[in-house]
Amino acid sequence: MILNHLREGLLAKSKTILIQGGNAVLGQIVAKQDILIQGEKIRAIGTLQGHKADLVVDAKGLLVLPGAVDTHVHFNDEFMNTVSVHDYYSGTRAAAFGGVTSIVDFSNQIPGEALVQTIDAKKEEAKGKAIIDWGVHPVLTKPTAKVLKEIPLLVQKGAPTIKCYMTYRAEGLMVGDKDLKRIMEALKNAGGMLLVHAEDNDTIEKNVPRMIKEGLTKPIFHARSRPPDSEAKAIQRCIQLARETRARLFIVHMASASGVELVGQARGEGYDVIAETCTHYLIFTDRMLLRDDGIKWICSPPLRNPMIQDWLWRGIRDGRISLVTSDDAAYSWDAKLYGADRFDKCPNGIPGIEVRLPLLYSEGVAKGHISLPRLVELISTHPALLFGLAPRKGTLAPGSDADIVLFDPKARWTMNQESLHMASDWSAYENIPITGKIVKVFSRGDLIIDGDRCLARKGRGRYLHRRLDPSVRAFVGSPRLERSFFQTDEGLYIK
Ligand SMILES: [Zn+2]
Repeated sequence: MILNHLREGLLAKSKTILIQGGNAVLGQIVAKQDILIQGEKIRAIGTLQGHKADLVVDAKGLLVLPGAVDTHVHFNDEFMNTVSVHDYYSGTRAAAFGGVTSIVDFSNQIPGEALVQTIDAKKEEAKGKAIIDWGVHPVLTKPTAKVLKEIPLLVQKGAPTIKCYMTYRAEGLMVGDKDLKRIMEALKNAGGMLLVHAEDNDTIEKNVPRMIKEGLTKPIFHARSRPPDSEAKAIQRCIQLARETRARLFIVHMASASGVELVGQARGEGYDVIAETCTHYLIFTDRMLLRDDGIKWICSPPLRNPMIQDWLWRGIRDGRISLVTSDDAAYSWDAKLYGADRFDKCPNGIPGIEVRLPLLYSEGVAKGHISLPRLVELISTHPALLFGLAPRKGTLAPGSDADIVLFDPKARWTMNQESLHMASDWSAYENIPITGKIVKVFSRGDLIIDGDRCLARKGRGRYLHRRLDPSVRAFVGSPRLERSFFQTDEGLYIK
């Protein structure tokens, strides 16, 4: 009996799949290459016609991409009097439909509890549920001496990337600058990296009550209360801490032109400062907040004007922005309605785990803003490299996990609530015409998405033990330094 199980296990592991005739994205090259999967890994890439395999998949006319890696998601997230509706089943299922085969989720430290508990809590949440591989970023909220001593242990446990908030004081999340510096030093010594939500709390705490008092309660005032300048101030401050400590700094969901400038400048000076932006900042502008249902687009930092959006695309093209994540924060419509009469009561966040690849292909590659290899870098290769998952994830190479997306670049469809699989009962992405469609998704050699069907077994997803590679820096794109005609206040600038 035991022997049978073992034999079955071995047979299952050695199953071979040949993906034939597709156009594979291999680094900067897009070429017709066959891919042989054996068990959970990519075994070979090349001209493999006639090679024997248990299953042959015809990929003619399709793109073959490495599975996307989303390093910014909030599952089961308790925030602003609600909990995000994506758990480890519904969230990873929607991710898989969107071509995502690895996620890294934020796990908030409960005040008074050990930081290591943030990993254990997610292991419990994922058990029997996750269908793709997943990792954890602990969120440090109470930096006591005892907690700082735990940082090396977190690195050892495969969670070397810790996030801190420079705002959300009332929600109990904010960490002050002095503590940020101590955390950066501790992370630097332990081989970790600090992730920062950079918005200036003083600006926001001053603006919000004033606006509410003056009756400026509509969704657009959410954006006005957190102007680009408040982001710039916070980014400037945390970059200064990176200068002083020489620690690696990662700025999450950057949504300002000044941020792009500041990051480019710091990197040009040799500091290890890296930034991401998110899908929604590239797709939507603050005009959405003027609609009657503007609460749908309340997120932080807020959506910006078209000029700033252009600047973010520019940062993506020239390398000052290194990756794009979803910042999936899926709150129910009932919860979003807390903000129906007052923007400050609306849980900040947009469900987006499924839309990143199709939207960025359609709006970015098909419209000529970025190349196909650049898209793959932004959503797969760079997140994997920067967050300690390479070369296992984020790339098509022999020996890497067989996380593969087959993508039809010509298919056209309409993105809306009905065509998506996210668990939220509403969608910010309504009737958007899309070019390009995910056809199949493999995760460690298992076909988990086949057209409209999810074939994955619940709980098959595994914990991603991550280790940062200090040499990765050289690979994340070099900033193109340019003299800018740029003023930080009010986001005014001349291109
Ligand atoms: Zn977030």
